[in-house]
Amino acid sequence: MDVEKKTSESVKVVVRCRPLNDREKTLNCKMIVSVQTGLCQCFINKPGSKEEPPKQFTFDGTYSIDQTTELMYNEIAYPLVEGVTEGYNGTIFAYGQTGSGKSFTMQGVSEPAAQRGVIPRAFEHIFESIQCAENTKFLVRVSYLEIYNEEIRDLLGNDTKQKMELKEHPEQGVYVRNLSLHTVHSVAECERVMEKGWGNRSVGYTLMNKDSSRSHSIFTFHLEMCNTDEVGEDHLRAGKLNLVDLAGSERQAKTGATGERLREATKINLSLSALGNVISALVDGRSKHIPYRDSKLTRLLQDSLGGNTRTLMVACLSPADNNYEESLSTLRYANRAK
Ligand code: ADP
Repeated sequence: MDVEKKTSESVKVVVRCRPLNDREKTLNCKMIVSVQTGLCQCFINKPGSKEEPPKQFTFDGTYSIDQTTELMYNEIAYPLVEGVTEGYNGTIFAYGQTGSGKSFTMQGVSEPAAQRGVIPRAFEHIFESIQCAENTKFLVRVSYLEIYNEEIRDLLGNDTKQKMELKEHPEQGVYVRNLSLHTVHSVAECERVMEKGWGNRSVGYTLMNKDSSRSHSIFTFHLEMCNTDEVGEDHLRAGKLNLVDLAGSERQAKTGATGERLREATKINLSLSALGNVISALVDGRSKHIPYRDSKLTRLLQDSLGGNTRTLMVACLSPADNNYEESLSTLRYANRAK
């Protein structure tokens, strides 16, 4: 298989459009985003320009307002997570402005069950695979960190305020010095650990969503497996799954950020554009230089983006006309990444 093909197959980009929310309905907002699921196409109309044809984008998958996380997981995330249990590295992340549905997609809701998030589904998937595997012993450890203002913190560490150092090892690659790893044996244990870390994040306030996270966080499964073959020989493998919760992609002007918040926003945008540049260089396949070093986020994900790994990006969109600029910018970002 040629390198270009392999790389582009390893990065999948899907788009998900949420329904209008109550605020948008009260404001009489129009729906300007639509998707053609079968054709994997997404269309966006510029508000107030009836003559102008809609802008059209094609992705690896498009999910409309009434489609579920269950469907999306089975179609596109399942093979990636399955790969991790076979010893590959994988990364899943949701991208989009605050309020576009990133948490809904990643964390999800408990009711209806079909809208449970990618994260709890991945937890279950991993432990089911472990239970079904024959002649294989597994060690499952998790870590959870936050990147806030280009500083790394261990969300599960003894001191969650302490800044952690990024190091590079000739064989191990990039790693966070002293990051805590926690052995887990069940879905319930994973959920408890995640909840604990989630509560330790730095939470900011913007006009768009008061709970909005201004940080990027990475929950990582580190899987080690030992398979004993027929002649009694052991084979060791390791796989890693990163579940990335990105900060909102909105630009500062709209969020009314000033001072400290504006500084944060600049850093957030820096990491997000660095991530976009890395993915687009990987997808392009011709670039010799992949700019991993441009941000902490991309350095940390270096061994799980590109090469022998799989990446899934879910670009989340609001359908409302008053979010036209942000939605178009999300579609352009996602389009560069595919
Ligand atoms: P973000 O994490 O991007 O800031 P949220 O996931 O919190 O956004 O979504 C904002 C609101 O929209 C939430 O109330 C959420 O329940 C709702 N929502 C998002 N996506 C969907 C969807 N696909 N279907 C129904 N409601 C959704």
